[in-house]
Amino acid sequence: MNTAFANPFDLTGKVAMVTGSRTGLGQAIAIALSQAGASIVGVDRGPADETRTAIEAQGGAFLPVTADLSTTAPLPAIVQSALDRFGALDILVNNAGIIRRADALDFTEEDWDAVVDVNLKSAFFLAQAAARTMLAARPNGKSAGGKIINIASMLSFQGGIRVASYTSAKSGLMGLTKLLACEWAAKGINVNAIAPGYMATNNTAPLRADAERNGQILARIPAGRWGAPADLGGAAVFLASEASAYVHGITIPVDGGWLAR
Ligand code: NAD
Repeated sequence: MNTAFANPFDLTGKVAMVTGSRTGLGQAIAIALSQAGASIVGVDRGPADETRTAIEAQGGAFLPVTADLSTTAPLPAIVQSALDRFGALDILVNNAGIIRRADALDFTEEDWDAVVDVNLKSAFFLAQAAARTMLAARPNGKSAGGKIINIASMLSFQGGIRVASYTSAKSGLMGLTKLLACEWAAKGINVNAIAPGYMATNNTAPLRADAERNGQILARIPAGRWGAPADLGGAAVFLASEASAYVHGITIPVDGGWLAR
């Protein structure tokens, strides 16, 4: 029996970097990848104590890296931190993201740049830095390859309202996922994305606090509930593992059926 395929979702021995892992979806993705066996490099602008405690409690390894992804300046050092601690970087999850809400007529350049810089620009340049490591030749002359997972959005598919920079960045991120897959699939990197539906996190607290918007959103989710961060774990482990070896450039909605409506 080929034991390598006994559990194609097994991430034992892999090193996974998750940005925005202090809270919300990034925290849940980091915990899920750790449960599948990966060591976690958690990148966030604030301390990720809660994530670290949860991962270490389940016997996993967690390296916190404090960095602000609103510029590209810290990116080389972030990748180097993973290499220094674990000697490799196999999986990157570009999850860190922010949102700014205003009518398009009033939208400021500051709100445009802030969102695009974190959600799109830093995601690209971190993918580039990670891919250079994943594709570097090892002593045997071959590269290790890797997995890159971008966290997209329903607004990669739809327009939304009052979130011009967010929709632009997330639509761009889905396009970028396809471009990177085309360039790197043959080199051994799977680039894919997950599009979460409406998930209960800090990011969506204002929507849930608005009774009218909350009701409108719930009414069109076939599953009948907001998503929980842990709902993303299965798709994240799938895209991070050998189970998705021939999967390139797709964006998987994990949305309770929102897009099917
Ligand atoms: P969240 O606000 O709960 O968490 C975002 C995390 O990113 C936080 O830990 C934050 O500290 C970190 N972060 C933000 N800016 C950063 C920066 N400049 N440098 C470093 N870290 C930074 O949000 P969330 O809901 O967990 O969202 C995670 C991702 O999922 C985002 O990309 C978001 O756009 C996307 N998303 C969320 C939903 C949802 O319904 N919650 C839906 C679709 C997509």
